[in-house]
Amino acid sequence: MAIKVSLPILGQPNPDEPKDVHLVGRYALGVTWADNHASIYPFERLRLDDPAHPIEAGAALTQAMGWPKDIKKQPDGLRVTWSDGHESLYPFRALRALCRCAGCTGGH
Ligand SMILES: [Zn+2]
Repeated sequence: MAIKVSLPILGQPNPDEPKDVHLVGRYALGVTWADNHASIYPFERLRLDDPAHPIEAGAALTQAMGWPKDIKKQPDGLRVTWSDGHESLYPFRALRALCRCAGCTGGH
């Protein structure tokens, strides 16, 4: 008789870990997560949502503020250097929480 266990399987990918980070068109960043969920983050939205330095909704971004100069996938998260010199770190779990697709926002 087989016994079913619900322990996590070793080596199972962490769903909060991105499998792939790529550009979507010219104005957005795409992340494919380990569970194959795909998120799209328009650059300006991403800058507004910087977890450490959130910008008030409705605030105007300069072009440099919303334009990434460098995007690096690091073990602790995604690091974005913006054209105005500001650096943002998006821990993967926080980044995943910023996904605004219909599936993540409950279809509203
Ligand atoms: Zn989503």
